[in-house]
Parts: sequence; C-alpha cells; structure tokens
Amino acid sequence: MVEYRSVTKKYPNGTLALSNINLTINKGEFAFFVGPSGSGKSTLLKLILKEEDPTEGEVFVNGYELSSMTRKDIPLLRRSLGVVFQDFRLLPNKTVYENVEFAMQITEALPKEIRRQVPMSLALVGLSKKAKAYPNQLSGGEQQRVALARALVNNPSLLIADEPTGNLDPETSWEIMKLLAEVNYRGTTVIVATHEKSIVDAMKKRVIAIDKGVIIRDQEKGQYEDEV
Ligand code: ADP
Ligand code: ADP
Repeated sequence: MVEYRSVTKKYPNGTLALSNINLTINKGEFAFFVGPSGSGKSTLLKLILKEEDPTEGEVFVNGYELSSMTRKDIPLLRRSLGVVFQDFRLLPNKTVYENVEFAMQITEALPKEIRRQVPMSLALVGLSKKAKAYPNQLSGGEQQRVALARALVNNPSLLIADEPTGNLDPETSWEIMKLLAEVNYRGTTVIVATHEKSIVDAMKKRVIAIDKGVIIRDQEKGQYEDEV
C-alpha cells in the first residue's frame, strides 16, 4: 500500500529530514509514526501526499511510483487518500454538512451519491445531529470528527493523520483514536503520526519510531518508547 525505498529527503535549505528510509505499510494495517518534534514524521506523510518529493529513492502508494506520476494524476492520488491534521482545517463559513459535502463536490461526485454518502459519513463519526452547525459552534473534538467524516467521505483506501489529537484533551483524544481504530477495523489502512505516549502504549498497534530522520525501531504491537 505504501512503500519507501531508500528514501532520503533534504530540504532546499540543506536540512536533512530523512536518511535512507526503507519501510512498507501493507493494506489493512494501522501504524503509528512516533518520535520527537522535528524527527521527520510529517515529512514521511508529505511524501505520501506528494506535497514533497524525495531527494533520493522512491515512494510507492497503491502500486504507483510517485515521482513518475504526471501532474494531472496528483489530484487522483489525493482523492484516494483521506487526511486529517492537528488544526482540523475546516471551512469556517460552511456548515458541518457542507464541509463534508464539499470534499465530494470537488471529486465531481453525482448529487445522488453525495446525498447518500455525506449522512453516512457523519453518522459514522456520531455527528448526524450537528449537520447544520458551523465549525465555531463545535468543540475541538467535534471539529476533528467533522474533519474525519470529510476525510472518509470518498471511501479512501488509506487514511493519514498528522498529530490528530494535538489540540485535544486526553478524553477527547481517546475518542478520536478509537474512531481511527474503528475505521481501520472496517478495512481502511491508517497511518497516524503522534506524540501521545499513553494512547500508543494502550492501543498495541505497529509502532515505527523515527529519530533524526532515521527509523530506530519498527515493532508490531509496539510501545511509544523502548522498554528498559
Ligand atoms: P516532525 O513531523 O517529526 O516534527 P518534520 O518532518 O516536520 O518532523 O521535520 C523534519 C525536519 O525537517 C526538521 O528538522 C524540520 O525543521 C525540517 N523541515 C520540515 N519542513 C521543512 C521545510 N519545508 N523546509 C526546511 N526544513 C523543513
Ligand atoms: P507539523 O509538524 O505540525 O506538520 P510542519 O511540518 O509545517 O508542522 O513543520 C514541522 C517543522 O518543520 C517545524 O519545526 C517547522 O518549524 C519546520 N518547518 C516547516 N516549514 C519550514 C520551512 N519552510 N523552513 C524551515 N523549517 C520549516
């Protein structure tokens, strides 16, 4: 599903963000990227979205090598992926329903399909009753659930979350992580970059630990830190 082959990323200012990364994430997996701030987690995710290109090596997503992908195929790639961010990135002047609907409109989905999918996606995250609310009328946890509904509405094969609970209290963070686990249980591959030690330790998923642009540990049912 996602493969990094000898990937090195150096930013134009000379920062070496990733060094010779070799990593495969298979269809149906749930994987955490953990590591200190600046270790390279976001860069790994940006490579999948083709927001950044590797300096050396190759990145494969759904069987496609991204650097040989043409400019016009990039929107198609991004449509097959769902993404959520720490800061939610909802459109403030649109309602909850419209925020989710918009993600389908830009894929030129049929109105009939939109009318079916948007309510299903809102139901999945438990927000059917808030469809008419605006983002500023919602709690942080609710806003992140809207972002999740929006990320899932096009039935992506892969969901990527970059610090999805970074702005949430512990209890709400748990709710979001449980939803991500449920999404994974239903068949979507999920990759989460996070700092949340307690959640990573409790969830017993694959943990890929990054430090200074290098994978220092890759563990099934892993922990946030090495056991001592
Ligand atoms: P993390 O997500 O683990 O915090 P990042 O992937 O964002 O780490 O960053 C890895 C390294 O690359 C850091 O040293 C960071 O400052 C640097 N970096 C990230 N984005 C850029 C950029 N656009 N230009 C230059 N350096 C960057
Ligand atoms: P996040 O980790 O929340 O996704 P970013 O990826 O934007 O945030 O930034 C991660 C790190 O990379 C931060 O430390 C930020 O200062 C650094 N960074 C981002 N863009 C640049 C840039 N253009 N030049 C230098 N450093 C950058």
